[in-house]
Amino acid sequence: AKRNGRNQYEFFSPRMEEMARHRLDIETDLRQAMSNNELLLYYQPIRRSASMDLSGYEALLRWHHPTKGLIPPLQFIPIAEETGLIHEIGTWVLTEACRAAMQWPVEQVVSVNLSPIQFARRNLVERVSGALEASGLPSARLELEITESVLLDETQRNLETLRQLKQLGVRIVLDDFGTGYSSLRYLRTFPFDKIKIDKSFINEVCESREALAIVRAITSMSRSLDIETTAEGVERVEQATLLQREGCSHLQGYFFGRPGLLDPQGRCHVKLA
Ligand code: C2E
Ligand code: CA
Ligand code: CA
Ligand code: CA
Repeated sequence: AKRNGRNQYEFFSPRMEEMARHRLDIETDLRQAMSNNELLLYYQPIRRSASMDLSGYEALLRWHHPTKGLIPPLQFIPIAEETGLIHEIGTWVLTEACRAAMQWPVEQVVSVNLSPIQFARRNLVERVSGALEASGLPSARLELEITESVLLDETQRNLETLRQLKQLGVRIVLDDFGTGYSSLRYLRTFPFDKIKIDKSFINEVCESREALAIVRAITSMSRSLDIETTAEGVERVEQATLLQREGCSHLQGYFFGRPGLLDPQGRCHVKLA
């Protein structure tokens, strides 16, 4: 078997070998990142489109690696998911986001992303209620963002978990709406509080008739279903104006502020893009 293993390596190009090594490095380092306090949360503002008031912030995970610098989530979350480290990391994110929100001067909402893998363990509801209790944050100030893949496998079990989460009083948001296979069906499956229109549509909403038609369809449907909508990835003023006119209830994107560190007063250090 060993020999086979070695032979297989011969199919590896130097580039692939480098990638595999990089991956292994990340995995090893990620195990230590938590105890070394290298993970941190950035926060990105979300505004109500009617008043342009700040409605809350989305917590976005960053890893401050001692030698590799700031690593974006898409480079390590998949590895955390495969290794199961996401459970521990996800619990830290929940606890830290609730704790931080308690210190904001205004009672805004904090949105936390949940990995579908976190639904595989039965104690997700306890982890969420634990984070709320430990911080003292009222459940109405916590929003959980999930993607439709949560409803793809283990549907009944995950639906039950979502119902229990909703019973805690937290709000459930369907993220990346429009990118999946049968998004519309999921709106019947579970009473989401809010959907986030994926930034790929927002990106083109001023130039593409198709993108605009899709955004219109989503906002009008959400209105009839009494679901709020956030447009994510708003980068330009023309997009903000158009999305406000189309009736998206919330707006988020570089135009309103990049993800950044919040000081204890809850203000963003990072200025508008
Ligand atoms: P997402 O939940 O869809 O988050 C939105 C992503 O879009 C973020 O990337 C954000 O920085 C970026 N973004 C915001 N406004 C704009 C804009 O105007 N233009 C463009 N081009 N991008 C914008 P980020 O922070 O790199 O996060 C990527 C993904 O990583 C997230 O996508 C989410 O799926 C995942 N993620 C981040 N934090 C966590 C976490 O704590 N737990 C889990 N499970 N996943 C996380
Ligand atoms: Ca999100
Ligand atoms: Ca998203
Ligand atoms: Ca996404």
